[in-house]
Amino acid sequence: MSTRSTPSNLDDEAFGIEELNAASLKEQLSIYRKFIDIFQELVSTFNLDTLLRRIIQVAKDLTHSEAASILLYDDLRQELHFSATTNINKEAQLHKIIVPKESLAGWVALNRETVIVEDVHQDQRWFTDVSKTVDFPTQSIIAVPMITQNKLIGVLEALNKQEGTFNDRDKECLKLLAAQAAVAIQNTRLFQQSDLISELVHELRTPLGSINTVAYLLQRPEISQSQRIEFARTIQSEADRLNRLTSNYLDFARLESGRIYYHTSIFRIESVIDECLEIIRPKAESQQIAITSQFAGNLPEIEADRDKIRQVILNLMSNAVKYNQVNGKIHIDVQTQTGEQIIIQIQDTGIGLSEDDTTHLFERFYRSKMAMKTAYGTGLGLSICKQIIEGHGGSIVVKSEVNVGSTFIVTLPIRLE
Ligand code: ADP
Repeated sequence: MSTRSTPSNLDDEAFGIEELNAASLKEQLSIYRKFIDIFQELVSTFNLDTLLRRIIQVAKDLTHSEAASILLYDDLRQELHFSATTNINKEAQLHKIIVPKESLAGWVALNRETVIVEDVHQDQRWFTDVSKTVDFPTQSIIAVPMITQNKLIGVLEALNKQEGTFNDRDKECLKLLAAQAAVAIQNTRLFQQSDLISELVHELRTPLGSINTVAYLLQRPEISQSQRIEFARTIQSEADRLNRLTSNYLDFARLESGRIYYHTSIFRIESVIDECLEIIRPKAESQQIAITSQFAGNLPEIEADRDKIRQVILNLMSNAVKYNQVNGKIHIDVQTQTGEQIIIQIQDTGIGLSEDDTTHLFERFYRSKMAMKTAYGTGLGLSICKQIIEGHGGSIVVKSEVNVGSTFIVTLPIRLE
């Protein structure tokens, strides 16, 4: 009978009680206990970001590695997304897309097999762009697929063993963690979805209620032709609102679920702003709102998802028109700060916001009382803007005064480091 002081395979031998002396039995029990605690913690965390951060921390500790990462799999697009990593603090580096065929993690995802690589530079499957993305000198790696109910959730990786090389014990620990992590991630998504769905259903009730009432009134024999037309218009505008609400909500839910796709390129912000101005100008002119713009002369190109940034600017400009007054003004100002950030300010002379409004403004469905009286809206645009800008490592804030106007200030890093 052989005895071992360190377990080599946690799957059936090391986790079994055969052939164990008292010391290793004690170690096994302590590992079991640790896993039970981890599992309990994971299944009771319902915030995806917190959950992912906890999983990578545990993965790093369990395997005595320098770092750990999670790549979540998007089965619609068949892409992997960097979703959490212990060695990067900058949000902007996350959510980058990895094409499965061109990376080691992709190989693990496609083959659903665990891999240990001692020297990634000797491995064909290692994609150097990935190491550039994470800005971390990777030497060795252990990568495990996260699967639940036969559905691939993503890949869990531990990078650079602190001492020695990754062994079977690390492999079994990470496999066990990955299995539990997959269940916990799936649960969190379902939980989030049901939360979001009930919120959406709640929001759909108002326009549905108006359509119902007006449709009932339309059937009354005593109504005049002009009332008939007015009711039909109400139905149309409420249906438009339902349409906007559902598509905005879908957008928001995608961003919220962490499945964000930033297709980055390098471009000039001026061109994006000019495009948005062209779209907005006719609406502004119809309300006698004058738009002016000013760009600093030294604006550098920026690296970001052009379509998403355009969506944000268009939303802010369209709000500046929507919540403005007749004969009002809008001014767009773009500056750069130390050549590392650009600052876009969109200033209007509209209804403004109270201090209380500004604290809730970026929450989903929030609309100021004054806005509700002024124009139709869903209260989702700004929460989408915030998600997108923060996803790029930037920030969005507002300065406002009731009946004087508001200024939305977007700060974006020039490069996604
Ligand atoms: P929506 O315009 O569809 O209501 P948003 O999310 O874009 O949704 O905006 C949320 C709320 O923020 C608006 O309902 C309004 O109360 C306030 N708001 C946004 N932009 C402005 C602005 N330029 N001036 C005053 N209030 C604004």
